[in-house]
Amino acid sequence: MELLPLSYINQFAYCPRRFWYMAVQGEMVENKHVVRGVINHERVHSEGYETSAAGVVVRRAVQVYSHSLGVSGVCDIVEEDTAGELTPVEYKQGRRGQWQNDHAQLCAQALCLEEMTGRTILRGCLFYFGDRRREEVLFDGALRAATIGLIAAMHASIALGEIPPHTSQRARCRGCSLAEVCLPAETELLLAVGGGQWIAGSRQ
Ligand code: SF4
Repeated sequence: MELLPLSYINQFAYCPRRFWYMAVQGEMVENKHVVRGVINHERVHSEGYETSAAGVVVRRAVQVYSHSLGVSGVCDIVEEDTAGELTPVEYKQGRRGQWQNDHAQLCAQALCLEEMTGRTILRGCLFYFGDRRREEVLFDGALRAATIGLIAAMHASIALGEIPPHTSQRARCRGCSLAEVCLPAETELLLAVGGGQWIAGSRQ
């Protein structure tokens, strides 16, 4: 199975069409949010490790993968406490949003670590640069099932070979760096005048 980047889980959860543009067509448009995210991630993506005063080993830029799920990527940080419990930590641009896509990406990192180490991982953490808050995320059954479902849907989308339709949640388009490639407003206009057959992925 092809290994898809872990970061695409977040993109797919946000909008399957955005995922398609990035994963299949290799599209990426940089806006201020994207550039700021890259710069912030560079700060935590230099490989290495250190041990805190409390004995917690903090490893940075840890490569992870799952052949059973078909994903791979890099954990910003994996902490290991003195009891051997692993905690992945993901750094995120901005403030905590209302959507749970960051949780799924973090949970996928945990699933990879579990497959690689044979250890059960109970929780992880999200750190948002915007509000400098660290949020604990429990990897319960519901989150695990949702994450596995998203990964399966990503692979199914690629296997289907069709660009997904525009998201019905148009508020998401306002913050999407690929709006100028995707043209959601122009598409709506075209549909209004009966030109839906000219739109890739439109099933309306
Ligand atoms: S502009 Fe909207 S529909 Fe298009 S990829 Fe972005 S979020 Fe999805």
